[in-house]
Amino acid sequence: NTRIVLAARPDGAPRPGDFRVETAPVPALKEGEVLLETVYLSLDPYMRGRMRDLKSYAPSLALGDVIVGGTVSRVVASRHALWHEGDLVSAYAGWQRYAVSDGQGLRKLDPAAAPPSTALGVLGMPGLTAYSGLREIGKPKAGETVVVAAASGAVGSAVGQIARIHGARAVGIVGGKEKAEFVKNELGFDVVLDHRAPDFAQQLARACPDGIDVYFENVGGKVWDAVFPLLNDFARVPVCGLIAHYNDANDPDQGVDRLPITMREILSRRLTVRGFIVFDFGLEEEFLKAATAWVADGRLRYREDVVEGLENAPQAFIGLLEGKNFGKLVVKVGEL
Ligand code: NDP
Repeated sequence: NTRIVLAARPDGAPRPGDFRVETAPVPALKEGEVLLETVYLSLDPYMRGRMRDLKSYAPSLALGDVIVGGTVSRVVASRHALWHEGDLVSAYAGWQRYAVSDGQGLRKLDPAAAPPSTALGVLGMPGLTAYSGLREIGKPKAGETVVVAAASGAVGSAVGQIARIHGARAVGIVGGKEKAEFVKNELGFDVVLDHRAPDFAQQLARACPDGIDVYFENVGGKVWDAVFPLLNDFARVPVCGLIAHYNDANDPDQGVDRLPITMREILSRRLTVRGFIVFDFGLEEEFLKAATAWVADGRLRYREDVVEGLENAPQAFIGLLEGKNFGKLVVKVGEL
């Protein structure tokens, strides 16, 4: 078995030396288990959080652990009553070629219904994140302005398109011209801005003449700084991710303390600022039904960035935190 483990906890941006490729024997199956072979591995920003030694909503990785991750996998041997050799499933097999599962958390995929890799993106965890955060917290109404950054990515691309399905106006923020063109022309966002532009904050203010009703927070940093003054009374902010800060040090006291002023504005503008994790609301079934239909009728489009070969996962992951990916990042580990 080829697998990639955490060799060292990254200090700032992860480096190739923080990862180690290992080979190990493929484990033998016990009764009730299946052997999975990875076809696609999903690379996601949350993995950076697991590399920290910090209490969070999920346990940290220990040094030497196989890095966690969602996968599309094939059952290649089974001693489980419900799973059969050849079944294609979505799983959580991590950064490795083979994994043993007791069947918990596996979901059968039908390759005739949708390309299997979509189970890691638009029809998987990132899609559910967009759907849930909007439905339970953002609650966009027709005519409202919804802003989202990382808008060409897995979550952001779905946020803007679902907002438009609800009749809202979608303002997307991306890094670079190519991503901007894609989000505007292919995904149909109303306005797209580049967060690297020197006058980005002014551009955002011009793009939101009626203020912002929903800010789907994916990044933090200077995007948040530009958005915050534009939030309308009773605006909603689903706090989904803060990727601009994932490589920051663990020091909570860094920088200027802006908490009092932020809290004052949350109070006076009666903002709803609520963090959430993808599985908080149990909307899996409802989401899959809606999103499958939207993908089929072309209202929910997506782009995948497919990297070949498990050994290239570390470099691709490092790039994800720098905006080098263009679309949902997956690693093709084996043949479909
Ligand atoms: P993406 O596919 O959007 O890839 C990450 C993107 O983030 C990059 O391509 C880059 O896009 C953008 N980015 C990186 N650094 C910065 C920065 N400093 N400022 C602005 N943008 C930056 O990733 P996902 O769609 O998978 O994830 C998006 C967010 O959603 C992340 O914060 C992630 O942690 C969060 N998330 C949260 C979940 C939850 O349960 N709460 C579940 C899933 C994801 P660009 O080049 O356009 O700037």
